[in-house]
Amino acid sequence: MASLYTAAYIGLGSNLGDPSAQVNSAIKALAALDNTRLLVASSLYRSAPMGPQDQPEYINAVAHLETRLEPLQLLHELQRIEAEHGRVRVEGERWGPRTLDLDLLLYGNEVIQDEELTVPHVGLHERNFVLFPLFEIAPELNLPDGRRVVELLNACPLEGLERIIG
Ligand code: ATP
Ligand code: MG
Ligand code: MG
Repeated sequence: MASLYTAAYIGLGSNLGDPSAQVNSAIKALAALDNTRLLVASSLYRSAPMGPQDQPEYINAVAHLETRLEPLQLLHELQRIEAEHGRVRVEGERWGPRTLDLDLLLYGNEVIQDEELTVPHVGLHERNFVLFPLFEIAPELNLPDGRRVVELLNACPLEGLERIIG
């Protein structure tokens, strides 16, 4: 019988407050979502900031969920968790510092182009702080267009990225 659950991958990032604690707390919040199971979370990674350089380095990770939430429901839950972790959105500022960023990277094999939601996430194919943790937990994964995560990773510079051991 077909599963009612869809595999979803979430990219986590934080560079304010205690970033590792925020990311670990967000992983717990993902595990506590209704109609959702946390299958696995990657190691934490340290990465150089993207965009404005006058901000602290980031801690990133990727989590693999199985969910019965619809994509927009899941996005809204991610935004609620961001807000609960003190995320303040600054009008007009892109890629500025934040206590928590949760991006929906992939939702099954779906391609979504909605006003609020683009899946696969726009940065997925070129961001090392997404591709390396994603490859760590899903080395066989393909994108909906058939590209393999490992291909994208091989084309992506490692610069500024460091896996945190232990
Ligand atoms: P980026 O999306 O380039 O990583 P960001 O994460 O800093 O930048 P946010 O401020 O977190 O951007 O989100 C901006 C908007 O992106 C949100 O209001 C949300 O509606 C939209 N959005 C579109 N697709 C997604 C997605 N796949 N995951 C999360 N947010 C998304
Ligand atoms: Mg983001
Ligand atoms: Mg975001």
